[in-house]
Amino acid sequence: MAKIIDGKKIRDYNLGILANEVAELKENGIETCLAVIIVGNDSASRIYVNNKKAACEKIGIKSLEFALPEETTTEELIALIDKLNADGSVNGILCQLPVPKHINKNEVLERIFPSKDVDCFHPENVGRLSIGKGHLMPCTPMGMVKMLEYEGIDPAGKHCVVIGRSDIVGKPMAMLMLSKNATVTVCHSKTVDLPSITRQADILVAAVGIANFVKADMVKDGAVVLDVGMDRDENGKLCGDVDFDAVSEKASAITPVPGGVGPMTITMLMRNTVEAAKEQNKIY
Ligand code: NAP
Repeated sequence: MAKIIDGKKIRDYNLGILANEVAELKENGIETCLAVIIVGNDSASRIYVNNKKAACEKIGIKSLEFALPEETTTEELIALIDKLNADGSVNGILCQLPVPKHINKNEVLERIFPSKDVDCFHPENVGRLSIGKGHLMPCTPMGMVKMLEYEGIDPAGKHCVVIGRSDIVGKPMAMLMLSKNATVTVCHSKTVDLPSITRQADILVAAVGIANFVKADMVKDGAVVLDVGMDRDENGKLCGDVDFDAVSEKASAITPVPGGVGPMTITMLMRNTVEAAKEQNKIY
């Protein structure tokens, strides 16, 4: 039976460390500050933004919210970003996705200064990550790295198979695992005979977006399984990409959904905000 990797416990551990760092910055006269922009009335986005603000409050980060109407133009959004870029008291800027369809998302994301890009979506930060010089890190993948660290699992020399090649999870996770000296294989919807590849994984990362997609016969005995999925089963209940009950009989360690990878994503957003504040104030 696999060890359950407890995302809430690891979140609380990391938030504790970050709260101390925020307090230390405050003693040096620096108030760490995150600006969150939300455009329109998407209800899921509203929940995410509220959760991000609550995490800030918990560890002493000041949060600013800019709620803009649905009809906001790309130019208006960019004007706000320019203002926040120029504001020395703002350390991190986040534009909650999705933005309404008429807004040029890439133009907006690329306008945020790389030094304030706490979501790590700017091409400069993506490029830095790919050459092993990342500072602000992709939140969900970095959360998984922190989980492995906490559990004492060293990816070096292990075969890490990532299912999914999205820009926010699959690709950056592959880069991070490479930087940790794993041998990495990235799979996607055109991969031929996926199970034969996933069965080779010492560390299997599922970032597919299909409920219970990874079955026990796709997993090697003793593998570490990290489930990024946030899906709904046939009863509408939140579940992951991994068939948890069956796979936990074979894996050595596994993240549950909910309570696994999910709680780490906002934690790493907090980490990036603190790192941005330190870098901008030349505190190393
Ligand atoms: P995405 O952009 O839809 O990417 C899904 C990936 O899965 C794609 O690369 C796709 O391949 C691949 N895929 C789809 N069907 C496949 C199949 N049959 N066999 C192999 N690969 C297949 O999704 P995402 O944004 O990476 O998110 C993935 C999941 O993680 C979702 O459930 C999402 O809600 C969740 N998520 C959770 C968090 C968190 O904080 N916990 C954060 C982000 C995302 P192609 O590229 O060939 O289409």
